[in-house]
Amino acid sequence: MHQLMTSREMARISCPSCEGCGDCCRGMDDTIHLDPYDIYILCKGLSTTFDSLLEKRIGLHVEEGLVLPHLLMGKNEACTFLGPDGRCGIHAIRPGFCRLFPLGREYDGEGFGYFVVEGGCPRPGKSPVRIRKWLDIPELGRWEAFVSDWHYFTGDVKKLLRAGENADLNRRIALFLLETFYVTPYRTGEDFYAQFYERLETAASALHLSD
Ligand code: SF4
Ligand code: SF4
Repeated sequence: MHQLMTSREMARISCPSCEGCGDCCRGMDDTIHLDPYDIYILCKGLSTTFDSLLEKRIGLHVEEGLVLPHLLMGKNEACTFLGPDGRCGIHAIRPGFCRLFPLGREYDGEGFGYFVVEGGCPRPGKSPVRIRKWLDIPELGRWEAFVSDWHYFTGDVKKLLRAGENADLNRRIALFLLETFYVTPYRTGEDFYAQFYERLETAASALHLSD
């Protein structure tokens, strides 16, 4: 059982010896999952589109019937954004999973709490830091609400797919979600959350998940 914390609490995760070791950016296979906010921030920061990122930076995997994106590992099994100096080349716009590390999230049916992943970073000498400072995400309250809503919405869709006996329909639902929340470009000059919740309402209604 993890000790769950809020972003107002302190966790012993800050790493003074983290000087470009980059170990957490290598050999991660398809485990650095990307949510719609990550895609919005990446597309905005790199002035690109989801389709262009798909060519070299991100890949797709299937998770309980859903088709979702993750960061691709490239040469020497390193994230394609990892610089030769062992530092993240997109630090200011890095995805949520990267911001969290070595924290994880655990969901309790209503929201989520943070916990320290045991053995996440092997470097010794960690010092305490407030989680909200560690995450360094603008409008943290809105982001946390979005993370929670996205988690529970995709959980409902996974249940729907498990119950669905028509494989073709399931495939179409998975592609509909991919298209709705990732492929269709976000207006990067506008607020992300308003656009996300508009799409969420449309998708929930189309899949009869509104109630
Ligand atoms: S593995 Fe630990 S020390 Fe190395 S870059 Fe990641 S957080 Fe820093
Ligand atoms: S985006 Fe940056 S922090 Fe995240 S895995 Fe790639 S190099 Fe590491």
